[in-house]
Amino acid sequence: MSQLITLKDKQFKPYITQQKIAAAVKSLSDAINKDLKEEFPIFLAVLNGSFMFAADLLKEITIPCEISFIKLASYSGMSSSGNVTELIGLTENINGRTVVIIEDIVDSGITLERLTEVLKDKNVKQIKVATILFKPDSYKKNYKLDYVGFNIPNDFVVGYGLDYEGLGRNLKEIHVLA
Ligand code: 5GP
Repeated sequence: MSQLITLKDKQFKPYITQQKIAAAVKSLSDAINKDLKEEFPIFLAVLNGSFMFAADLLKEITIPCEISFIKLASYSGMSSSGNVTELIGLTENINGRTVVIIEDIVDSGITLERLTEVLKDKNVKQIKVATILFKPDSYKKNYKLDYVGFNIPNDFVVGYGLDYEGLGRNLKEIHVLA
């Protein structure tokens, strides 16, 4: 594995190898193939960070499925409730479907909460969550995470889709702040 890398003003050291990531992705996909074989799931990959995990995961999915790439946009609307979350990119009708959210990392869980709230209005059958990384010490919500690659401490990581100020998403391995 390579040594220290520099992204802008920060240095990162190797943390999770490509081999370990591939093994975790395989075990998550095996579980999904088994659990959801009767479901014809639709995967919703949350951009930008999940693009690499989503691609690798879907290559190992052998059951019939669909995938859509979505973004969450938050803006202060004119509504009395303050911030409004909008789901961008979902063109499929997901009424009655089993939805698998694909995240790069679940940290505080706020993103997951917003997404779950938006999906609740769409009458889905059930929501499953797959994430390659999870920070349990930071998680403040109660949504169940069904498929987790790695539990990690509250350290800042980059690579495998995750960025530092736009950089590092292309790294094959996951690196942590040195
Ligand atoms: P949440 O706190 O809503 O669960 O996560 C919000 C977002 O914070 C994630 O989707 C991800 O973009 C970002 N994030 C959280 N922890 C890290 C980290 O260690 N590295 C990077 N690059 N992004 C992170």
